[in-house]
Amino acid sequence: MHVGPVTIEDEVLLAGVRNNVGFSSPEFVEAMGKMLRGLRKVFGVDDSYQTFAIVGGGTSAMESVVSLLRKGEKVLVVSNGVFGDRWEPLLKRYPLQVNVLRADPGDYVPPEAVEDEVSKGGYTAVTMTHVETSTGVRHPVEETVKRIRDRVDLIVVDGVSAAGAETVKAKDWGVDVYLTASQKALGAPPGLGLLALSERALERLKGESVSGYLLDLRNWLPVMRNFEEGKLGYFSTLPVHTVLMLAKSLELIEKEGLENRIARHEKVARAIRAGVEGMGLKIVARRPEAYSNTVTGVIVNGVDPAKVLSAVINEGIELAPGVHPKLQGRYFRIGHMGWVTPNDAIATIAVLERVLKSLGEDVRVGEGVKAAQLALYS
Ligand SMILES: *Cc1c(COP(=O)(O)O)cnc(C)c1O
Repeated sequence: MHVGPVTIEDEVLLAGVRNNVGFSSPEFVEAMGKMLRGLRKVFGVDDSYQTFAIVGGGTSAMESVVSLLRKGEKVLVVSNGVFGDRWEPLLKRYPLQVNVLRADPGDYVPPEAVEDEVSKGGYTAVTMTHVETSTGVRHPVEETVKRIRDRVDLIVVDGVSAAGAETVKAKDWGVDVYLTASQKALGAPPGLGLLALSERALERLKGESVSGYLLDLRNWLPVMRNFEEGKLGYFSTLPVHTVLMLAKSLELIEKEGLENRIARHEKVARAIRAGVEGMGLKIVARRPEAYSNTVTGVIVNGVDPAKVLSAVINEGIELAPGVHPKLQGRYFRIGHMGWVTPNDAIATIAVLERVLKSLGEDVRVGEGVKAAQLALYS
C-alpha cells in the first residue's frame, strides 16, 4: 500500500523474467508499439497525440517538457504540494521565467485563481499536478484548463499518481502534455517516463528550445514513430524489461477495462477513507471533491507517524511517510493504486487500528473495519 513504486501483479512480473532483448528483436518492437498505443487509451487521447516512453521516470518526463520551451518564456506553476513545487527548481535550471501559485496543504489552487493569474498575460505554459501525491489531493484539471486553454500555448499536467486510476480525458479537456511514470498507478516497475503530446505541443518541437540533450523530445520523437510503425528505433537504451512489463500491464488494464479499473480504485479509496474516519482519524485532503482514487493522507494526533510505518511493516503492510514540509511529523500516507483490491483496504484498516491503538493513539478499534465494510457493501 505504498504510493509508488507499487506492488506488481504476477503476470506483469513474469513478462520481465527473461534475458535482455535488443531493440531490433521483433518482441521488443511489438512491445513498444503496444505500449505506445496502450498509453493513448489511458491518457484519453487519439492518434493526433504522440505518446513517448523515455529513460528515467516521472521527473525525467517533467524535465523533458523544457524541450517545448524557448529562452525567456514564462511558465505558471500551479502547485498543491511537494510534486507541484518540484516544477519550480526544475524550470529555474533553464533560462525561463517561473511564477508559482501555491495551495495550503490539503487544498488545491482554485481554478479562478489560475484564471486570474493567466489573464494578466505573458504566460506561455501552465503546469499542474493531477493528483498531488504528497497530500492525496486531486486537482480539478478539466475546469482549470477550460478557463485558460485559449490564453496559453501549453497546458502541462503531471498525472504520475493518476493515469490508470483516475478518469483522464487529456484531449477533450485540452491538455497539451499529459505525463506519468511506469511504477505508479500503471502498476509496472520503475524506469520509464511516459508522455502524450498534442498537435500544438508537437508543433513546438519544430523550433529551438532551452533543453539539454538526453531529455530533448526532438531526439525521442523519431524513435517513437519508428516503433509505432513496427521498426526499430534508438536514441538511448530504454529499460527493456520495464518496457516488456509495462506492455503486459497495459494489456491487463485493457482486459479489466479502463472504466472498471477506475471504478475499482474509486471503491477501494472510498473504503480506505471510510475506515480512517470510522476509527476516528482525519484525512489530509480538505475537500471531498478533491479526494483522490490513489492516495490518502492520514493525520495522527499523539503518535509519531514514523513509528506507525515501522510497526505496520511487521504486520505485512507497507505505507508511505508524510512528506509535505508544512505537515511534517503529523501524517502518513496510504497508497491505493495499481492492483489494489477491496481486501487490501480491509486488511490495511484492520492492521492500522491494532497498531495505532497499541502505540497509544486514540482510535476506535473495530469501527474503522466496520465503516470500510459498509462502504464496500453499499
Ligand atoms: C512520483 C511522482 C513524481 C516523480 O516521479 P519519479 O519517477 O520518482 O521521478 C512526479 N510527480 C508525481 C505526482 C509523483 O507522484
